[in-house]
Amino acid sequence: MKILVAVKRAIDYNVKARPKSDGTGVELANVKMSMNPFDEIAVEEAIRLQEAGKVEEIIAVSVGPAQCQETLRTAMAMGADRGILVQTETEIQPLGVAKLLKALVDKEQPGLVILGKQAIDDDSNQTGQMLAGLLGWAQGTFAAKVEVGVDTVDVKREVDGGLQALTLKLPAVITADLRLNEPRYVKLPNIMKAKKKPLDIVTPADLGVDVAPRLKLVKVSEPAARAGGVKVADVNELVAKLRNEAKVI
Ligand code: AMP
Repeated sequence: MKILVAVKRAIDYNVKARPKSDGTGVELANVKMSMNPFDEIAVEEAIRLQEAGKVEEIIAVSVGPAQCQETLRTAMAMGADRGILVQTETEIQPLGVAKLLKALVDKEQPGLVILGKQAIDDDSNQTGQMLAGLLGWAQGTFAAKVEVGVDTVDVKREVDGGLQALTLKLPAVITADLRLNEPRYVKLPNIMKAKKKPLDIVTPADLGVDVAPRLKLVKVSEPAARAGGVKVADVNELVAKLRNEAKVI
């Protein structure tokens, strides 16, 4: 079985995202970019399945500008066998990414596609679900545990207040949640080895996919600044403030 893993180049999780001054999007100029953290977990899971002998090949896919090659090289340094960059300079919305991934699934015929549960830049949490819908495949989202059987996969999903256990028929789409695993650190020799692994570059047009945006971004703005807190002397003062100032009781 092959596994396709989607890896997005996103703003590094340590960087505070800021809106552009004209509100047309998030500022990306001179901002550190890295692999979306949930996608590292997705790659790690694919590698563990390969190490367990359940998977022959892991293909990492990224959609975005030429710099996404770095993200793919990181996935390959972790252990992915090859990479595919769908190169485009325009920002592609989750539906567009899902359509591109579907086109690659049709071509590569993987038994499993693993994505992150969400990209930490747009927080959409849509791509995996849309891909499963477009393919007509089963989906196990927010996965905290994955066990691949002969023609099924057992997924434990993070849900409010616990875990939900599902058995999905293969082929299937899985999205990785935080507790699924702890991704390995990339070792220097593996970075060198990854440079020699195959990396194909295609465009949305090569895949025959229309990626025109379907959603219009109206405005990106900072959240309202939080007012400082005050200490109250006793419960009576607290209740008075809640009633008269905050007007919440
Ligand atoms: P989202 O629906 O945007 O929150 O993204 C969910 C997941 O879809 C991510 O964690 C990635 O695995 C995948 N994904 C989204 N956008 C891209 C992209 N441009 N390239 C590769 N994978 C992506």
